[in-house]
Amino acid sequence: MAQLAKPPVPAAPRITPREDLNPFRIAQIQFDIAAEHLKLDPGLRQILRSPKRALEVSVPTRLDSGQWKVFTGFRVQHSVTRGPAKGGIRFHPGVTLDEVKALAMWMTWKTATVNLPYGGGKGGVVCDPKRMSKGELERMTRRFASEIQPLIGPELDIPAPDVYTDSQTMAWIMDTYSVLSGRTVPGVVTGKPISIGGSEGRGEATARGCVVVLEEACKVRRISLRGATVAIQGFGNAGATASRLLASRRAKIVAISDSRGAVHSSRGIDPLKAQRYKERSGTVVGMPGTSRISNDDLLTLKCDILIPAALENVITLANADAIRARVIAEAANGPTTPHADEILARRAITVIPDILANAGGVTVSYFEWVQDLQRYFWPEQEVNAKLDAVMRRAFLDVHEAARKFHVPLRLAAYILAIGRVAEATSLRGIFP
Ligand code: NAD
Repeated sequence: MAQLAKPPVPAAPRITPREDLNPFRIAQIQFDIAAEHLKLDPGLRQILRSPKRALEVSVPTRLDSGQWKVFTGFRVQHSVTRGPAKGGIRFHPGVTLDEVKALAMWMTWKTATVNLPYGGGKGGVVCDPKRMSKGELERMTRRFASEIQPLIGPELDIPAPDVYTDSQTMAWIMDTYSVLSGRTVPGVVTGKPISIGGSEGRGEATARGCVVVLEEACKVRRISLRGATVAIQGFGNAGATASRLLASRRAKIVAISDSRGAVHSSRGIDPLKAQRYKERSGTVVGMPGTSRISNDDLLTLKCDILIPAALENVITLANADAIRARVIAEAANGPTTPHADEILARRAITVIPDILANAGGVTVSYFEWVQDLQRYFWPEQEVNAKLDAVMRRAFLDVHEAARKFHVPLRLAAYILAIGRVAEATSLRGIFP
Protein backbone atom coordinates (compact mmCIF):
# COMPACT_ATOMS: atom_id res chain seq x y z
CA MET A 1 0.00 0.00 0.00
CA ALA A 2 2.94 2.33 0.48
CA GLN A 3 2.87 3.19 -3.23
CA LEU A 4 -0.70 4.52 -3.05
CA ALA A 5 -0.62 8.30 -3.02
CA LYS A 6 -3.03 10.65 -1.26
CA PRO A 7 -5.89 11.30 -3.72
CA PRO A 8 -5.37 14.57 -5.61
CA VAL A 9 -7.63 17.52 -4.89
CA PRO A 10 -10.17 17.29 -7.69
CA ALA A 11 -11.59 19.88 -9.99
CA ALA A 12 -14.93 20.28 -8.19
CA PRO A 13 -17.96 19.46 -10.34
CA ARG A 14 -20.29 22.44 -10.77
CA ILE A 15 -23.80 22.05 -9.45
CA THR A 16 -26.62 24.57 -9.22
CA PRO A 17 -26.40 26.59 -5.99
CA ARG A 18 -29.79 25.72 -4.44
CA GLU A 19 -29.75 22.42 -2.59
CA ASP A 20 -32.34 19.97 -3.91
CA LEU A 21 -32.85 17.05 -1.52
CA ASN A 22 -35.08 14.93 -3.77
CA PRO A 23 -33.20 11.61 -3.65
CA PHE A 24 -33.89 10.61 -7.25
CA ARG A 25 -32.67 13.96 -8.57
CA ILE A 26 -29.56 13.64 -6.38
CA ALA A 27 -28.98 10.13 -7.79
CA GLN A 28 -29.35 11.45 -11.34
CA ILE A 29 -26.97 14.38 -10.69
CA GLN A 30 -24.37 11.93 -9.36
CA PHE A 31 -24.93 9.73 -12.42
CA ASP A 32 -24.64 12.63 -14.89
CA ILE A 33 -21.35 13.83 -13.39
CA ALA A 34 -19.82 10.35 -13.66
CA ALA A 35 -21.28 9.77 -17.15
CA GLU A 36 -19.63 13.03 -18.26
CA HIS A 37 -16.22 11.83 -17.01
CA LEU A 38 -16.74 8.50 -18.78
CA LYS A 39 -17.85 10.28 -21.97
CA LEU A 40 -20.70 7.78 -21.95
CA ASP A 41 -22.63 7.29 -25.16
CA PRO A 42 -25.92 9.29 -25.07
CA GLY A 43 -28.01 6.16 -25.69
CA LEU A 44 -26.42 4.34 -22.76
CA ARG A 45 -26.96 7.44 -20.60
CA GLN A 46 -30.66 7.38 -21.38
CA ILE A 47 -30.90 3.72 -20.44
CA LEU A 48 -28.92 3.92 -17.20
CA ARG A 49 -30.29 7.14 -15.69
CA SER A 50 -33.81 5.72 -15.24
CA PRO A 51 -35.11 2.50 -13.70
CA LYS A 52 -35.85 -0.49 -15.90
CA ARG A 53 -39.14 -1.15 -14.13
CA ALA A 54 -41.23 0.35 -11.32
CA LEU A 55 -44.25 -1.39 -9.85
CA GLU A 56 -46.76 0.32 -7.57
CA VAL A 57 -49.15 -1.94 -5.68
CA SER A 58 -52.10 -1.60 -3.32
CA VAL A 59 -51.71 -3.73 -0.22
CA PRO A 60 -55.11 -4.38 1.42
CA THR A 61 -54.56 -5.47 5.01
CA ARG A 62 -56.93 -6.55 7.80
CA LEU A 63 -56.14 -4.57 10.95
CA ASP A 64 -56.56 -5.98 14.47
CA SER A 65 -59.76 -3.89 14.81
CA GLY A 66 -61.31 -5.87 11.94
CA GLN A 67 -61.18 -2.84 9.61
CA TRP A 68 -59.41 -3.02 6.24
CA LYS A 69 -56.67 -0.58 5.30
CA VAL A 70 -54.99 -0.26 1.92
CA PHE A 71 -51.26 0.54 2.05
CA THR A 72 -49.23 1.60 -0.98
CA GLY A 73 -46.08 -0.33 -1.86
CA PHE A 74 -43.37 -0.13 -4.50
CA ARG A 75 -40.77 -2.41 -6.02
CA VAL A 76 -38.32 -0.84 -8.43
CA GLN A 77 -35.71 -2.62 -10.53
CA HIS A 78 -33.14 -0.18 -11.78
CA SER A 79 -31.01 -2.70 -13.67
CA VAL A 80 -30.83 -6.47 -14.20
CA THR A 81 -28.07 -6.37 -16.81
CA ARG A 82 -25.29 -7.92 -14.68
CA GLY A 83 -27.59 -10.29 -12.77
CA PRO A 84 -30.82 -10.35 -10.74
CA ALA A 85 -31.94 -7.10 -9.11
CA LYS A 86 -30.83 -6.87 -5.47
CA GLY A 87 -31.90 -4.49 -2.74
CA GLY A 88 -33.85 -4.02 0.47
CA ILE A 89 -37.45 -3.33 1.37
CA ARG A 90 -38.21 -0.48 3.78
CA PHE A 91 -41.34 0.19 5.81
CA HIS A 92 -41.65 3.89 6.61
CA PRO A 93 -44.33 6.61 6.52
CA GLY A 94 -42.04 8.78 4.36
CA VAL A 95 -41.45 6.23 1.57
CA THR A 96 -41.98 7.73 -1.92
CA LEU A 97 -41.55 6.34 -5.40
CA ASP A 98 -38.69 8.81 -6.01
CA GLU A 99 -36.87 7.61 -2.90
CA VAL A 100 -37.25 3.95 -3.94
CA LYS A 101 -36.08 4.77 -7.49
CA ALA A 102 -32.97 6.49 -6.10
CA LEU A 103 -32.21 3.65 -3.72
CA ALA A 104 -32.63 1.11 -6.55
CA MET A 105 -30.18 3.06 -8.73
CA TRP A 106 -27.66 3.28 -5.86
CA MET A 107 -27.96 -0.50 -5.44
CA THR A 108 -26.96 -1.02 -9.09
CA TRP A 109 -23.83 1.06 -8.55
CA LYS A 110 -23.13 -0.59 -5.18
CA THR A 111 -23.26 -4.16 -6.51
CA ALA A 112 -21.13 -3.11 -9.49
CA THR A 113 -18.57 -1.31 -7.27
CA VAL A 114 -17.89 -4.52 -5.33
CA ASN A 115 -18.30 -6.50 -8.57
CA LEU A 116 -21.15 -8.80 -7.53
CA PRO A 117 -23.17 -10.47 -10.34
CA TYR A 118 -26.27 -8.45 -9.54
CA GLY A 119 -28.23 -5.44 -10.70
CA GLY A 120 -30.04 -3.07 -8.38
CA GLY A 121 -33.54 -2.90 -6.94
CA LYS A 122 -35.40 -1.55 -3.94
CA GLY A 123 -38.84 -1.73 -2.40
CA GLY A 124 -40.92 0.04 0.18
CA VAL A 125 -44.33 0.24 1.79
CA VAL A 126 -45.76 3.54 3.03
CA CYS A 127 -46.71 2.63 6.60
CA ASP A 128 -45.82 3.40 10.19
CA PRO A 129 -44.48 0.08 11.56
CA LYS A 130 -44.02 1.55 15.07
CA ARG A 131 -47.82 1.90 15.29
CA MET A 132 -48.65 -1.57 13.95
CA SER A 133 -48.98 -4.85 15.86
CA LYS A 134 -46.88 -7.85 14.87
CA GLY A 135 -49.99 -9.50 13.40
CA GLU A 136 -50.79 -6.44 11.27
CA LEU A 137 -47.17 -6.26 10.08
CA GLU A 138 -47.19 -9.94 9.16
CA ARG A 139 -50.45 -9.67 7.18
CA MET A 140 -49.27 -6.51 5.39
CA THR A 141 -45.87 -8.05 4.59
CA ARG A 142 -47.39 -11.26 3.24
CA ARG A 143 -49.88 -9.38 1.06
CA PHE A 144 -47.12 -7.07 -0.22
CA ALA A 145 -44.97 -10.14 -1.02
CA SER A 146 -47.85 -11.69 -2.97
CA GLU A 147 -48.43 -8.43 -4.89
CA ILE A 148 -44.78 -8.17 -6.00
CA GLN A 149 -44.46 -11.96 -6.50
CA PRO A 150 -44.40 -11.73 -10.33
CA LEU A 151 -41.26 -9.58 -10.13
CA ILE A 152 -39.21 -11.34 -7.44
CA GLY A 153 -37.41 -14.69 -7.37
CA PRO A 154 -33.90 -16.09 -6.89
CA GLU A 155 -33.08 -15.51 -10.57
CA LEU A 156 -35.07 -12.27 -10.90
CA ASP A 157 -34.95 -9.94 -7.92
CA ILE A 158 -33.85 -10.72 -4.37
CA PRO A 159 -35.11 -8.42 -1.59
CA ALA A 160 -33.39 -7.94 1.79
CA PRO A 161 -34.03 -6.00 5.03
CA ASP A 162 -33.78 -2.21 5.12
CA VAL A 163 -35.21 0.53 7.38
CA TYR A 164 -37.72 -1.02 9.83
CA THR A 165 -37.66 -4.46 8.23
CA ASP A 166 -35.63 -7.34 9.66
CA SER A 167 -34.95 -11.07 9.47
CA GLN A 168 -38.54 -11.83 10.61
CA THR A 169 -39.90 -9.75 7.71
CA MET A 170 -37.67 -11.74 5.34
CA ALA A 171 -38.90 -15.03 6.85
CA TRP A 172 -42.54 -13.99 6.09
CA ILE A 173 -41.65 -13.03 2.51
CA MET A 174 -39.71 -16.26 1.99
CA ASP A 175 -42.62 -18.31 3.35
CA THR A 176 -45.26 -16.45 1.29
CA TYR A 177 -43.24 -16.83 -1.90
CA SER A 178 -42.56 -20.50 -1.13
CA VAL A 179 -46.23 -21.30 -0.41
CA LEU A 180 -47.30 -19.57 -3.65
CA SER A 181 -44.60 -21.52 -5.56
CA GLY A 182 -45.40 -24.89 -3.95
CA ARG A 183 -41.79 -25.46 -2.80
CA THR A 184 -39.31 -23.99 -0.33
CA VAL A 185 -37.32 -21.18 -2.01
CA PRO A 186 -34.79 -19.75 0.49
CA GLY A 187 -32.88 -17.85 -2.24
CA VAL A 188 -35.77 -15.43 -2.89
CA VAL A 189 -34.63 -13.11 -0.06
CA THR A 190 -31.47 -12.56 1.99
CA GLY A 191 -31.04 -11.41 5.57
CA LYS A 192 -33.09 -14.40 6.75
CA PRO A 193 -32.72 -16.08 10.15
CA ILE A 194 -29.91 -18.68 10.07
CA SER A 195 -32.34 -21.55 10.76
CA ILE A 196 -34.10 -21.04 7.39
CA GLY A 197 -31.09 -20.36 5.19
CA GLY A 198 -29.53 -17.15 6.51
CA SER A 199 -25.75 -16.73 6.51
CA GLU A 200 -23.33 -16.59 9.38
CA GLY A 201 -21.77 -13.12 9.58
CA ARG A 202 -24.67 -11.24 7.89
CA GLY A 203 -25.52 -9.24 11.04
CA GLU A 204 -22.06 -7.69 11.31
CA ALA A 205 -21.27 -7.57 7.59
CA THR A 206 -22.01 -3.90 6.89
CA ALA A 207 -19.86 -2.65 9.75
CA ARG A 208 -17.12 -5.21 9.06
CA GLY A 209 -16.92 -4.15 5.40
CA CYS A 210 -16.89 -0.49 6.44
CA VAL A 211 -13.96 -1.07 8.79
CA VAL A 212 -11.99 -2.92 6.08
CA VAL A 213 -12.26 -0.01 3.61
CA LEU A 214 -11.56 2.44 6.42
CA GLU A 215 -8.32 0.58 7.17
CA GLU A 216 -7.32 0.91 3.53
CA ALA A 217 -8.26 4.60 3.35
CA CYS A 218 -6.31 5.31 6.54
CA LYS A 219 -3.23 3.67 5.02
CA VAL A 220 -3.53 6.06 2.07
CA ARG A 221 -3.94 9.06 4.39
CA ARG A 222 -1.19 7.72 6.66
CA ILE A 223 -3.48 7.66 9.68
CA SER A 224 -2.89 4.88 12.16
CA LEU A 225 -6.15 3.30 13.34
CA ARG A 226 -4.46 2.64 16.65
CA GLY A 227 -5.21 5.78 18.66
CA ALA A 228 -7.29 7.40 15.89
CA THR A 229 -10.26 9.36 17.24
CA VAL A 230 -13.67 8.33 15.89
CA ALA A 231 -17.14 9.92 16.05
CA ILE A 232 -20.12 7.76 15.08
CA GLN A 233 -23.59 9.11 14.32
CA GLY A 234 -26.19 6.38 14.93
CA PHE A 235 -25.55 3.64 17.47
CA GLY A 236 -27.66 0.97 15.72
CA ASN A 237 -26.71 -2.18 13.86
CA ALA A 238 -24.06 -0.58 11.63
CA GLY A 239 -22.79 2.11 14.05
CA ALA A 240 -22.58 0.04 17.24
CA THR A 241 -20.88 -2.88 15.47
CA ALA A 242 -18.41 -0.54 13.75
CA SER A 243 -17.56 1.06 17.11
CA ARG A 244 -16.83 -2.37 18.59
CA LEU A 245 -14.67 -3.49 15.66
CA LEU A 246 -12.75 -0.18 15.68
CA ALA A 247 -12.20 -0.30 19.43
CA SER A 248 -10.77 -3.81 19.01
CA ARG A 249 -8.22 -2.21 16.63
CA ARG A 250 -7.37 0.29 19.40
CA ALA A 251 -9.11 3.28 17.83
CA LYS A 252 -10.62 5.70 20.36
CA ILE A 253 -14.39 6.21 20.08
CA VAL A 254 -14.86 9.80 21.26
CA ALA A 255 -18.55 10.35 20.41
CA ILE A 256 -21.65 8.28 19.63
CA SER A 257 -25.29 9.17 19.15
CA ASP A 258 -28.82 7.95 18.56
CA SER A 259 -32.13 9.62 17.78
CA ARG A 260 -32.29 11.08 21.33
CA GLY A 261 -28.91 12.86 21.20
CA ALA A 262 -25.14 12.43 21.31
CA VAL A 263 -22.49 11.89 23.97
CA HIS A 264 -18.80 12.74 24.01
CA SER A 265 -15.74 11.67 25.98
CA SER A 266 -12.20 12.73 25.08
CA ARG A 267 -10.94 9.77 27.16
CA GLY A 268 -12.82 7.34 24.91
CA ILE A 269 -16.14 5.46 25.13
CA ASP A 270 -16.20 1.70 25.68
CA PRO A 271 -18.62 0.38 23.00
CA LEU A 272 -19.61 -2.69 25.02
CA LYS A 273 -20.50 -0.55 28.04
CA ALA A 274 -22.40 1.83 25.73
CA GLN A 275 -24.32 -1.11 24.25
CA ARG A 276 -25.28 -2.40 27.71
CA TYR A 277 -26.25 1.12 28.81
CA LYS A 278 -28.42 1.57 25.69
CA GLU A 279 -30.10 -1.80 26.24
CA ARG A 280 -31.00 -0.77 29.81
CA SER A 281 -32.05 2.83 29.21
CA GLY A 282 -33.07 2.87 25.54
CA THR A 283 -30.48 5.53 24.59
CA VAL A 284 -26.77 6.29 24.86
CA VAL A 285 -27.61 9.72 26.31
CA GLY A 286 -26.69 9.93 30.00
CA MET A 287 -24.03 7.22 29.83
CA PRO A 288 -21.68 7.68 32.85
CA GLY A 289 -18.30 9.24 32.02
CA THR A 290 -19.64 11.12 28.99
CA SER A 291 -20.93 14.64 28.44
CA ARG A 292 -23.97 15.41 26.34
CA ILE A 293 -23.59 17.16 22.99
CA SER A 294 -26.04 17.62 20.12
CA ASN A 295 -26.12 15.44 17.02
CA ASP A 296 -24.99 18.51 15.04
CA ASP A 297 -22.00 18.97 17.35
CA LEU A 298 -21.02 15.34 16.84
CA LEU A 299 -20.77 15.85 13.09
CA THR A 300 -18.42 18.81 13.44
CA LEU A 301 -16.27 17.39 16.24
CA LYS A 302 -12.49 17.47 15.74
CA CYS A 303 -11.60 13.82 15.10
CA ASP A 304 -9.73 11.63 12.64
CA ILE A 305 -12.70 9.57 11.45
CA LEU A 306 -16.41 10.39 11.19
CA ILE A 307 -18.91 7.59 10.53
CA PRO A 308 -22.44 8.72 9.67
CA ALA A 309 -24.46 5.55 10.37
CA ALA A 310 -28.01 6.82 10.73
CA LEU A 311 -29.83 8.92 8.15
CA GLU A 312 -29.52 10.49 4.71
CA ASN A 313 -28.73 14.19 4.07
CA VAL A 314 -26.92 14.92 7.36
CA ILE A 315 -23.78 16.45 5.82
CA THR A 316 -25.08 19.34 3.75
CA LEU A 317 -24.30 22.82 2.51
CA ALA A 318 -25.13 23.99 6.04
CA ASN A 319 -22.35 22.13 7.87
CA ALA A 320 -19.81 20.80 5.32
CA ASP A 321 -17.48 23.73 5.96
CA ALA A 322 -17.47 22.98 9.68
CA ILE A 323 -16.64 19.25 9.43
CA ARG A 324 -13.24 18.64 11.05
CA ALA A 325 -12.76 14.90 10.46
CA ARG A 326 -9.97 13.77 8.11
CA VAL A 327 -11.80 10.72 6.79
CA ILE A 328 -15.56 10.12 6.51
CA ALA A 329 -16.82 6.56 6.06
CA GLU A 330 -20.46 6.54 4.96
CA ALA A 331 -22.02 3.55 6.70
CA ALA A 332 -25.44 5.15 6.09
CA ASN A 333 -26.96 5.45 2.63
CA GLY A 334 -26.87 8.98 1.18
CA PRO A 335 -25.62 10.94 4.24
CA THR A 336 -23.80 13.58 2.11
CA THR A 337 -25.48 15.91 -0.39
CA PRO A 338 -23.75 16.69 -3.72
CA HIS A 339 -23.08 20.29 -2.55
CA ALA A 340 -21.47 19.08 0.65
CA ASP A 341 -19.42 16.62 -1.38
CA GLU A 342 -18.04 19.45 -3.44
CA ILE A 343 -16.99 21.34 -0.29
CA LEU A 344 -15.45 18.27 1.37
CA ALA A 345 -13.48 17.48 -1.79
CA ARG A 346 -12.14 21.03 -1.91
CA ARG A 347 -11.06 20.70 1.71
CA ALA A 348 -9.26 17.39 0.92
CA ILE A 349 -11.39 15.42 3.38
CA THR A 350 -11.45 11.80 2.23
CA VAL A 351 -15.03 10.54 1.83
CA ILE A 352 -15.44 6.77 1.46
CA PRO A 353 -18.78 6.78 -0.38
CA ASP A 354 -21.79 4.77 0.76
CA ILE A 355 -21.78 2.54 -2.33
CA LEU A 356 -18.36 1.31 -1.20
CA ALA A 357 -18.35 1.88 2.58
CA ASN A 358 -21.59 0.01 3.35
CA ALA A 359 -21.37 -2.62 0.60
CA GLY A 360 -20.35 -5.30 3.13
CA GLY A 361 -24.05 -5.97 3.80
CA VAL A 362 -24.96 -6.75 0.20
CA THR A 363 -21.72 -8.72 -0.21
CA VAL A 364 -22.66 -11.14 2.55
CA SER A 365 -26.24 -11.15 1.18
CA TYR A 366 -24.66 -12.42 -2.04
CA PHE A 367 -22.83 -15.10 -0.05
CA GLU A 368 -26.14 -16.05 1.60
CA TRP A 369 -27.82 -16.42 -1.81
CA VAL A 370 -24.92 -18.54 -3.14
CA GLN A 371 -25.14 -20.79 -0.05
CA ASP A 372 -28.95 -21.07 -0.44
CA LEU A 373 -28.67 -22.07 -4.10
CA GLN A 374 -26.06 -24.71 -3.23
CA ARG A 375 -27.76 -25.79 0.03
CA TYR A 376 -24.22 -25.73 1.45
CA PHE A 377 -23.38 -23.39 4.32
CA TRP A 378 -20.05 -21.87 5.32
CA PRO A 379 -18.64 -21.17 8.80
CA GLU A 380 -18.46 -17.54 9.95
CA GLN A 381 -14.68 -17.39 9.60
CA GLU A 382 -14.94 -18.31 5.92
CA VAL A 383 -17.67 -15.70 5.33
CA ASN A 384 -15.58 -12.99 7.02
CA ALA A 385 -12.42 -13.91 5.09
CA LYS A 386 -14.29 -13.77 1.76
CA LEU A 387 -15.90 -10.44 2.76
CA ASP A 388 -12.50 -9.01 3.65
CA ALA A 389 -11.11 -10.00 0.24
CA VAL A 390 -14.04 -8.49 -1.71
CA MET A 391 -13.94 -5.19 0.21
CA ARG A 392 -10.16 -4.74 -0.04
CA ARG A 393 -10.24 -5.46 -3.79
CA ALA A 394 -13.12 -2.97 -4.22
CA PHE A 395 -11.26 -0.25 -2.32
CA LEU A 396 -8.14 -0.74 -4.46
CA ASP A 397 -10.23 -0.65 -7.68
CA VAL A 398 -11.94 2.59 -6.58
CA HIS A 399 -8.67 4.14 -5.42
CA GLU A 400 -7.06 3.27 -8.74
CA ALA A 401 -9.95 4.92 -10.61
CA ALA A 402 -9.55 8.01 -8.37
CA ARG A 403 -5.91 8.28 -9.38
CA LYS A 404 -6.59 7.66 -13.05
CA PHE A 405 -9.38 10.24 -13.36
CA HIS A 406 -8.07 12.68 -10.68
CA VAL A 407 -11.37 12.64 -8.81
CA PRO A 408 -12.52 11.94 -5.24
CA LEU A 409 -13.49 8.42 -4.17
CA ARG A 410 -17.27 8.87 -4.69
CA LEU A 411 -16.91 9.94 -8.27
CA ALA A 412 -14.30 7.23 -8.78
CA ALA A 413 -16.69 4.57 -7.46
CA TYR A 414 -19.45 5.86 -9.76
CA ILE A 415 -17.09 5.89 -12.74
CA LEU A 416 -16.00 2.32 -11.98
CA ALA A 417 -19.53 1.04 -11.37
CA ILE A 418 -21.23 2.85 -14.25
CA GLY A 419 -18.40 1.75 -16.54
CA ARG A 420 -19.01 -1.89 -15.58
CA VAL A 421 -22.78 -1.67 -16.07
CA ALA A 422 -22.38 0.29 -19.32
CA GLU A 423 -19.97 -2.33 -20.70
CA ALA A 424 -22.40 -5.16 -19.88
CA THR A 425 -25.28 -3.19 -21.39
CA SER A 426 -23.51 -2.46 -24.64
CA LEU A 427 -22.23 -6.05 -24.95
CA ARG A 428 -25.75 -7.42 -24.47
CA GLY A 429 -27.27 -4.80 -26.75
CA ILE A 430 -30.97 -4.00 -26.78
CA PHE A 431 -33.84 -6.27 -27.68
CA PRO A 432 -35.12 -6.61 -30.36
P1 NAD B 1 -30.54 0.88 12.88
O1 NAD B 1 -31.99 1.20 12.90
O2 NAD B 1 -30.06 -0.37 13.53
O3 NAD B 1 -29.71 2.09 13.53
C1 NAD B 1 -29.93 3.43 13.21
C2 NAD B 1 -29.45 4.26 14.39
O4 NAD B 1 -29.55 5.64 14.05
C3 NAD B 1 -30.27 4.07 15.67
O5 NAD B 1 -29.40 3.99 16.77
C4 NAD B 1 -31.09 5.36 15.74
O6 NAD B 1 -31.39 5.73 17.07
C5 NAD B 1 -30.10 6.33 15.14
N1 NAD B 1 -30.73 7.58 14.69
C6 NAD B 1 -31.95 7.77 14.15
N2 NAD B 1 -32.16 9.08 13.95
C7 NAD B 1 -31.03 9.72 14.35
C8 NAD B 1 -30.63 11.06 14.38
N3 NAD B 1 -31.44 12.04 13.98
N4 NAD B 1 -29.40 11.36 14.85
C9 NAD B 1 -28.57 10.38 15.28
N5 NAD B 1 -28.91 9.09 15.28
C10 NAD B 1 -30.12 8.77 14.82
O7 NAD B 1 -30.12 0.94 11.34
P2 NAD B 1 -28.82 0.33 10.65
O8 NAD B 1 -29.15 -0.99 10.07
O9 NAD B 1 -27.63 0.48 11.56
O10 NAD B 1 -28.68 1.34 9.40
C11 NAD B 1 -28.11 2.64 9.57
C12 NAD B 1 -27.79 3.20 8.19
O11 NAD B 1 -26.92 2.29 7.52
C13 NAD B 1 -28.99 3.40 7.26
O12 NAD B 1 -28.74 4.52 6.44
C14 NAD B 1 -28.97 2.15 6.40
O13 NAD B 1 -29.61 2.36 5.15
C15 NAD B 1 -27.48 1.95 6.26
N6 NAD B 1 -27.13 0.58 5.90
C16 NAD B 1 -27.33 -0.44 6.76
C17 NAD B 1 -27.03 -1.74 6.35
C18 NAD B 1 -27.19 -2.91 7.28
O14 NAD B 1 -26.87 -4.03 6.86
N7 NAD B 1 -27.64 -2.72 8.51
C19 NAD B 1 -26.52 -1.98 5.05
C20 NAD B 1 -26.31 -0.89 4.20
C21 NAD B 1 -26.62 0.38 4.63
